[in-house]
Amino acid sequence: MPLKFDNRFVSLLPGENIAQIDGSTQLSRKVLGACYSNTLPVKPSDPRLLAHASEVAELIGLSPSEVHSQWFLDAFSGRKLLADMEPFAMCYGGHQFGHWAGQLGDGRAINLGEVVNPVGQRWMLQLKGAGPTPYSRNADGFAVLRSSVREFLCSEAMHHLGVPTTRALSLIGTGDLVVRDMFYDGRPRREPGAIVCRVAPTFVRFGNFEIFSSRQDLKILKQLIDHVIRTDFPELADGKQEIDSGIIVTWFREICRRTAVMIVHWMRVGFVHGVMNTDNMSILGLTIDYGPYGWLEDYDPTWTPNTTDAQGRRYCYGQQPQIAYWNLAQLANSIGPCVDDKESLEEAMSVYVDTIQEHWQNTMLAKLGLQRWTPTEDSLLESLFELLRSIETDMTWFYRLLATWPIGHQPTEDQPDRKAAALVHFHEAFYRPEQCDNDYAARLNAWLNRYDQRVLQDHNDARHRQAIMDRTNPLYVLRNYLAQEAIDLAQEQGDPGLIMELLDVLRNPYREQPGKERFAKKRPEWARNRPGCSMLSCSS
Ligand code: AMP
Ligand code: MG
Repeated sequence: MPLKFDNRFVSLLPGENIAQIDGSTQLSRKVLGACYSNTLPVKPSDPRLLAHASEVAELIGLSPSEVHSQWFLDAFSGRKLLADMEPFAMCYGGHQFGHWAGQLGDGRAINLGEVVNPVGQRWMLQLKGAGPTPYSRNADGFAVLRSSVREFLCSEAMHHLGVPTTRALSLIGTGDLVVRDMFYDGRPRREPGAIVCRVAPTFVRFGNFEIFSSRQDLKILKQLIDHVIRTDFPELADGKQEIDSGIIVTWFREICRRTAVMIVHWMRVGFVHGVMNTDNMSILGLTIDYGPYGWLEDYDPTWTPNTTDAQGRRYCYGQQPQIAYWNLAQLANSIGPCVDDKESLEEAMSVYVDTIQEHWQNTMLAKLGLQRWTPTEDSLLESLFELLRSIETDMTWFYRLLATWPIGHQPTEDQPDRKAAALVHFHEAFYRPEQCDNDYAARLNAWLNRYDQRVLQDHNDARHRQAIMDRTNPLYVLRNYLAQEAIDLAQEQGDPGLIMELLDVLRNPYREQPGKERFAKKRPEWARNRPGCSMLSCSS
């Protein structure tokens, strides 16, 4: 047996007291008094390995050749379980778009078991799209290829960008068709199904605690808190007999801190989650549940990729820090019954605010290649964001080009006008060059003058400045249209080649990769309004 399992979640926490049933006969139901239900994956008819991440295989203790074995295909398509796997779906609730939604749960995710790798790290393996569970709420529990490609690629892209995230081991086509009404226009189509095997220390979310609190099931609530602290935050439990109120508050402070760090990373790279409901917030501060997410192209803080959110824009790019705070407040409410001093939880929320502020400042300094924060920075940043917003500017390209902007640039004979030189320098970042009128050129120039002065005042040499910037500002991100191109090729021609090629490029997002320039190109015009490239529905 190549993998070693130690299934603590099922062995230490209460599960639903019924026999294990196959997903195909699984009925949606309310599950009371349990953290999970035993659930078997549905066997796919003709599974095919489309892509895998070798570094994730290695993480759980597999060698490269094992990924291509029959047992790997069987286990990670849900066809045949490994000996010590104990599959289950978790019970959780959540606030969706600001409203309490009651029981949600793993509707199409089945945890297979907890692997302990050769160096003693624990990893939960989870199939997404392997069939119905008690939490499927009348949906089918499956996932279509397009959404699975997006989850697979983005999980890994985020990891390589240095953003805390769940990982993706494999992408397997099931050989079965799944019916989806992609545009919610009453015209459902049959689409190929797929399964991603996700990997994380735990998939527990804020909603796992909220559900027990909402039902006043304080015994299980406390049991779950104890379990998560002991298993996933062992440094806080520190061998103590009892997890007391003080430890729980310290734990909550740590969740606030990790969530803040994650959000600043999202803002740094231009990631928009799209559905920041409390059931999509990891207790570990990992990016989780890649659905209608998107990457900011032209810098517009009100942009949301999620068509369901087009009206309210609750989950748009610029709102993400506030929403995470709101979500943490819901978590604080739910664990409140286990804490003696409620005010200490409120106070802990300031950890979030302070961490966001500190990390945001450091991140912005690094994005601009500056070393020290000075009192003028707030206004320098404000005018930068205004500049970026004022015409359609690709955020990724703008920062990359700023790194090579010649500081203190003197007009040369062939480019006498510094304003014109700036427009040429940043040309690649402009979606509509015709928007670069005289007024814009003057404002860009004025900002660059201020920036030049700041850089000179910072006494940072140009090579060092560029090095800091180029490891903070990625060149290759999973642009929405690139993911869609990989999906089109896989879906229309059965060719997963672009998925693996993209994964490979995204492994080194900060380094120029000769021959791979096309993956850095800003969104082409054809993709401006194409579904999948600019807007996504939750139908997946
Ligand atoms: P999301 O907004 O995608 O995080 O999903 C919210 C809830 O709906 C979660 O409990 C999901 O497991 C569930 N869900 C989404 N799609 C499906 C599906 N096709 N089948 C069953 N449950 C689903
Ligand atoms: Mg979800």
